[in-house]
Amino acid sequence: MNHAKRNDAPGIGTRAVWAGERGERWAGATQVPVALSVSFGYETVEEWLQVAQGKRPGHIYGRNTNPTVAAFEDKIRDLEGAEAATSFASGMAAISNILFTLLSPGDRVVSIKDTYGGTNKLFIEFLPRFQIEVKLCDTTDHKAIEAAIARGCNLLYLESPTNPTVKIVDIARLAAAGHQQGALVVVDNTFATPINQQPLELGADLAVHSATKFLGGHADALGGVVCGPKELVSRIYHFREINGACLEPMSAYLLLRGMKTLHLRVRRQNENALQIARFLESHPRVAKVFYPGLAAHENHEIARRQMSGFGGVLSFALHGGFDAVKSFLPRLRYVNLAANLGAVETVAGPPATTSHVESTPEERAASGIPEALIRYSVGIEDAEDLMADLRQALDSLG
Ligand SMILES: *Cc1c(COP(=O)(O)O)cnc(C)c1O
Repeated sequence: MNHAKRNDAPGIGTRAVWAGERGERWAGATQVPVALSVSFGYETVEEWLQVAQGKRPGHIYGRNTNPTVAAFEDKIRDLEGAEAATSFASGMAAISNILFTLLSPGDRVVSIKDTYGGTNKLFIEFLPRFQIEVKLCDTTDHKAIEAAIARGCNLLYLESPTNPTVKIVDIARLAAAGHQQGALVVVDNTFATPINQQPLELGADLAVHSATKFLGGHADALGGVVCGPKELVSRIYHFREINGACLEPMSAYLLLRGMKTLHLRVRRQNENALQIARFLESHPRVAKVFYPGLAAHENHEIARRQMSGFGGVLSFALHGGFDAVKSFLPRLRYVNLAANLGAVETVAGPPATTSHVESTPEERAASGIPEALIRYSVGIEDAEDLMADLRQALDSLG
């Protein structure tokens, strides 16, 4: 699959740089200004009223819309090939707003066991309190997911690749099954980014992101966004303008600035991650490597079909249990030992302190997460240096 060009439209790299950036609103500024103003004033009540009623473009109050935030929404909307986009204070705000806008008591959600930890908490702790049934299926058991959908499904929620064992689900196949039941299909595209995967093209109704990760790419701004058809997105926007989980203009600026290099960063991270995964696969201290770009990955074929790159996140298990992890990680030189991912710097950590900090060892084992697992989000450094760094830390385990 090649997402670089659609007909004679500009390529995704050109759009990553230019989309959302131009417009009369900036009075010719070549870089999008940060509009920190909370409110927007008008000379006449008539004009003010027309903006308030949506009859002419403009902004009223920062909890609803803001020009810097709108530029960020335009850029990601364009890259996801969507009609509309609306943004949020964080990825979790985006996901919460989607679920609480679109679901009602009595509805049934079908999803997978490997969704992001916060999403999983919404499914098991919060939605059931509103009499919403959630059926979580084994992530790679497509037949079981289809059977769960066939028993009734108002919303199908998918994530691919997943966190931290980078499992792959067949988005086109499951979206078709969901639509047959009249379900709305939502895909968390955080790990892939629109550079590597286009959920709407694969049949999803909505693509959601934690912009905090690869979109921003510099680990200096929290944000979230949902992209899809105007009708659906405006319903979600309407709930957000009321509950107030809006994106900060300064964060929108940082995310916009980061996104101009999204295609460069992600392509480099794809290349680095594949090389590093192959290197780790061949090292005797490593028990198992999880990366969808490896031929040995259980859903490598699906990944090849639906992705144009395999992403910047991999994970691997060491021989020697959690003690080996504790002695290995601090020996790495070119890494932040931290909870985020998708940054220009390489970031690593065990699931016990990152994606699954709230789970017990038993719950992690049930999710197929070895205690000696390390999630490794590859940065844009030189792959040779990262491999040498990993080699010295692995060799020192003795
Ligand atoms: C981080 C993350 C989220 C949550 O995003 P925040 O911006 O931290 O709220 C959701 N989904 C995935 C896949 C993530 O990695």
